[in-house]
Amino acid sequence: MPAPVNLAQAVPVDGWMARLGRRLWAPRCLVCREPAAGRFDLCARCEAGLPWMPPACLSCAMPLLPAPTRRADAVGAATAATALPAGARAASTRVAAVAAPAGGGAGLPELCSACRHATPPLSEVHAAFLYGFPLDRLLPRFKFHRDLAGGRLLAQAMAAAFCGHLRPDALVPIPLHRSRLRQRGYNQALELARPLGRMLALPVRPELLLRTRRTAPQSRLDADARAGNLRDAFEVPARAAPPPHVALVDDVMTTGATLHAAADALFDAGADRVDAWICARAP
Ligand SMILES: [Zn+2]
Ligand SMILES: [Zn+2]
Repeated sequence: MPAPVNLAQAVPVDGWMARLGRRLWAPRCLVCREPAAGRFDLCARCEAGLPWMPPACLSCAMPLLPAPTRRADAVGAATAATALPAGARAASTRVAAVAAPAGGGAGLPELCSACRHATPPLSEVHAAFLYGFPLDRLLPRFKFHRDLAGGRLLAQAMAAAFCGHLRPDALVPIPLHRSRLRQRGYNQALELARPLGRMLALPVRPELLLRTRRTAPQSRLDADARAGNLRDAFEVPARAAPPPHVALVDDVMTTGATLHAAADALFDAGADRVDAWICARAP
């Protein structure tokens, strides 16, 4: 009987095949294709450049200070994360090394001056990032070209940024109108909300909100036209009862008109508090 072939000896672990395999299948940065450094599927340079949200207005998520990232505050984010599920905790630790938590820092007001003089419908708005490089690559690829690996990375980052916030009873993704959903094939807000809900152990309830009117793309309108464009665009189905505290989930916030219209529909249906958790805040 022939002796069994020992593959470990036949192909040395550091032989040319192993080196070729490592080169071919090594994880690559989702932005620039350089070798990934192990966190978030990004290379060290792209990860260091992530535009994490500095302390921001609780109502509109605009930065309160044009200050650079406040690394010292990150300790607080890691501490808050210890009471959370393992996935969220791991994600939070990754953020803690590079960024401050969102929200007002010590000595800062919680609202910007514009929001102090208005009464916006949302209780709290949190964005993980300011829109900029590399979000301007990752988000459009995810939204329009089905880059689901990019979507996973963004949901991981959102979980890390939001795990210390007051927990809502449900996450509700901003819905697409059914005709746009047919065109695109998926709703990017739902694709962010699902993994985010899993990581933070929060229920995801897309059935609580419908988009009943097909609206013009918001990006082509000014602020006043955006608000008018969305009037009565959302509806809570007749038999659905939203829980008291809901957090809306969306990819990008620009003026907030979409979120405000969605929040109005949820309040009309009986919600007491509506927050918004956004991936990136456009300036
Ligand atoms: Zn890179
Ligand atoms: Zn504000």
